[in-house]
Amino acid sequence: MNFKVPRGTQDILPSETWKWQKVEKLINEVCEMYRYKEIRTPMFEQTELFQRLVGETTDVVQKEMYTFTDRGNRSMTLRPEGTAPVVRSYVEQKMFGYPDQPVKLFYTGPMFRYERQQAGRYRQFVQFGVEAIGSNDPAIDAEVIALALDVYKRAGLTDLKLVINSLGDTECRASHKKALIAHFKPHIEEFCSDCKSRLENNPLRILDCKVDAENLLIASAPSLADYLNDDSAAYFKEVLNYLDDANIDYEVDATLVRGLDYYNHTAFEIMSTSAGFGAITTLCGGGRYNGLAEDIGGPSAPGIGFAMSIERLLLALEAEGKSFDDESALDVYVVTLGDEAKRAGIKLLGQLREAGIRSDTDYLGRKMKAQMKSADRLNAKTVIVIGENEVAENVVMLRNMANRSQEKVATQDLVQKLNGILKV
Ligand code: ATP
Ligand code: MG
Repeated sequence: MNFKVPRGTQDILPSETWKWQKVEKLINEVCEMYRYKEIRTPMFEQTELFQRLVGETTDVVQKEMYTFTDRGNRSMTLRPEGTAPVVRSYVEQKMFGYPDQPVKLFYTGPMFRYERQQAGRYRQFVQFGVEAIGSNDPAIDAEVIALALDVYKRAGLTDLKLVINSLGDTECRASHKKALIAHFKPHIEEFCSDCKSRLENNPLRILDCKVDAENLLIASAPSLADYLNDDSAAYFKEVLNYLDDANIDYEVDATLVRGLDYYNHTAFEIMSTSAGFGAITTLCGGGRYNGLAEDIGGPSAPGIGFAMSIERLLLALEAEGKSFDDESALDVYVVTLGDEAKRAGIKLLGQLREAGIRSDTDYLGRKMKAQMKSADRLNAKTVIVIGENEVAENVVMLRNMANRSQEKVATQDLVQKLNGILKV
């Protein structure tokens, strides 16, 4: 039997995990700067939560969920996205009662969608997302967007484009919906079967269809921009003003709708414009979701957030030819010759680690040359060599790999000596 990693998932190996850790560290630091606090919700929820909040007519709910019946005969779903669980928790834990409003949260963790695998699209992927719940201030829309861009910029990305749109409020969406139905209905036979079923219940989705993207009727469809009422238009204008003030470039795209049902007002995506990036260029998507908490029995609490996958962030870095510095090099590799030296070496290793010095040694009983090779491969900054003579004299040979200099150091002075060398 040949076992393989499930389709659409990947093993992230030690040669890669350090990059993930870097991104996660960066995320934590940026969120701290903006006062977003981490929330960790379960990996699965009641299926109904996603049906209700993400929307029955969305691709995510209709085609992409990992749903199973548990032993208690309850329908459960591996979370396909992070907003619904966070809003569930917000309502259940009564976060609307917290003294500091809005509640500003972030999460990082695996999401699951049964999708066709391609570059940048996985069945298990890690999303970082933020949610600011409890404020209707356009300034916080701009803050959330700035935070997302900040993460990318600090990761080293430069080829970025922010695309933004307003989906308006319930009133404008209703009149726009009517116009869309009237526009598509006479020609609906030209569209895919999904779009046919979208026509009556969710015609906005047609604009987002990947199959019919080239149909000219999509380009000529009534634009949401023409259906924004005064309040919605004024809100959108303020968001854009705040972005201007923050020197954030954007492109308004009236056809940007988003794949999930819960959005209203601000909707945005951040794309990679790097030539090296594959077919999928969206790195991050987000928007406002006023009314979501209410949908599950909470108070009326306006919210805004985004989600980005770390997979696509790393792909974008690669496409731009950028990489992080690998700072995980070993400080010390301990080379020993003979049994006595081995014992002394292992003892020393314990002391080094106690002093916070990253160190390792040989566990295969190899010859000196092979041990030195290991030290090189592991990028050790220094090598300590211990033979019988050194044990007898209570010293070690310390080699600085940066300049290949070598000196004899008394064992009791070693930690201090190393700290001096490693600091520079
Ligand atoms: P797409 O149009 O690429 O399917 P989406 O509209 O489904 O994206 P969202 O649900 O808004 O995406 O998720 C936000 C972000 O999560 C995306 O911009 C992308 O970075 C990431 N993402 C979504 N699905 C996947 C996936 N299957 N694999 C990797 N990353 C993903
Ligand atoms: Mg999708």
